[in-house]
Amino acid sequence: MPKTFMPSCLNISELKKQQLEGLKWTVHHAYSGSEHYRGVMQKVGVKPEDIQSLDDIQKLPFTTVNDLKSGYPFPLLSARMSDVVRVHASSGTTGKRKILAYTQKDIDDWATFFARCYEMAGLSVMDRVQIAVGYGVWTAGVGFQLGCELFGAMAVPLGPGNIDLQCEFLIDLQPTVLCCTASMGLLMAEEIKRRGIRDKIALKKMIFGSERSSEAMRQHICDLIGLEELFDIVGMTELYGPGTGIDCPRHEGIHYWADYYILEVLDPDTLKPVAPGEIGEMVVTTLKKEAVPLIRYRTRDITRLIERPCSCGNIMPMHDRILGRSDDMIIFRAVNIYPGQIDSVLSTIDDIGPEYQIILGHGDDGRDYMTLRVESREGLERINHSEIERKVSTLIKKSLLVSCNVEAASYGSLPRSERKSKRVFDNRMS
Ligand code: ZN
Repeated sequence: MPKTFMPSCLNISELKKQQLEGLKWTVHHAYSGSEHYRGVMQKVGVKPEDIQSLDDIQKLPFTTVNDLKSGYPFPLLSARMSDVVRVHASSGTTGKRKILAYTQKDIDDWATFFARCYEMAGLSVMDRVQIAVGYGVWTAGVGFQLGCELFGAMAVPLGPGNIDLQCEFLIDLQPTVLCCTASMGLLMAEEIKRRGIRDKIALKKMIFGSERSSEAMRQHICDLIGLEELFDIVGMTELYGPGTGIDCPRHEGIHYWADYYILEVLDPDTLKPVAPGEIGEMVVTTLKKEAVPLIRYRTRDITRLIERPCSCGNIMPMHDRILGRSDDMIIFRAVNIYPGQIDSVLSTIDDIGPEYQIILGHGDDGRDYMTLRVESREGLERINHSEIERKVSTLIKKSLLVSCNVEAASYGSLPRSERKSKRVFDNRMS
């Protein structure tokens, strides 16, 4: 039987038993090893021995990005300095960067569940994996590589950019899998098509990390070069790095590694669990991490838990794609909306292009109004725009339960950006 990296637990109750063991270990370890964790637990009057069930996680205080920053350069360190073998850093848009330390066991655990990602995506040891994500202290190409090597496939560690070399290696070394961001995936698909090298390469799958991509964009990439499949890998530096979850070939959600961390989805305002299947902030607690364990770390990423088990039969639970950051949330007529939700709705409509804008304003009647600007799809210049407007507003109303005005225009009329486009314009304050 081929080697497997899937969890040892066979059913949910075994998984929960493992989670409780891991939770107890983590709380003991953090309490005895980190002054910060001991301090915040003492402050709310909770001791490691108070954690006797998975529900007791709610007794534990939250950890935030500020705790990581204020402990710079070795925040939340709970292991001996002599046991630390590596650091990675994650860049913040504001203020000081975060540095995360790893023991050798942390690195080994990361490689193991990353190998599981490749197994989940249906790779075999005969696959060749071109890794076109960043290497170095900031990002974690090394995670993609260690996981690939442990899995037993062949890594081609190229790093990002360098399109000529990417194409050359795709031809010469015949990689079957390309790991990159969605933007890079689109760029590569366009280049492969433009250069007419599709018949000379063996690419079957792409694995996307670290960037939200709409369904429309994914379909476009597949269509351009006839890929078999795309996968979304998730992860963040605070929680090891990329590889903490991936979708399986059924694509019903992101399977996440619940034997390595507990995922709570909480209302970012009340910090209480949202109703089953509702959208909220991902809060993670690690179960095996030695150097920098995370206890109820508020990731600011927004998603929802998928309650039903996957039809593939794997017991690892699932969450939805990342819908955005809690900082991006729009409150419109008392409804919380994330731009990612608008993405998802627009992606289901064939006749429109990938760009859009959300404009929020205040009406004379004192109410808030939302206008959604969309474009018709390329090549559909003669399409009836009012038909599109009707379709979009009906679907938005149905999915997000809010009314909005829709303005449709021709393809290319909205501004384009090489970097991240600004899509939300909130004029309600002015
Ligand atoms: Zn599955």
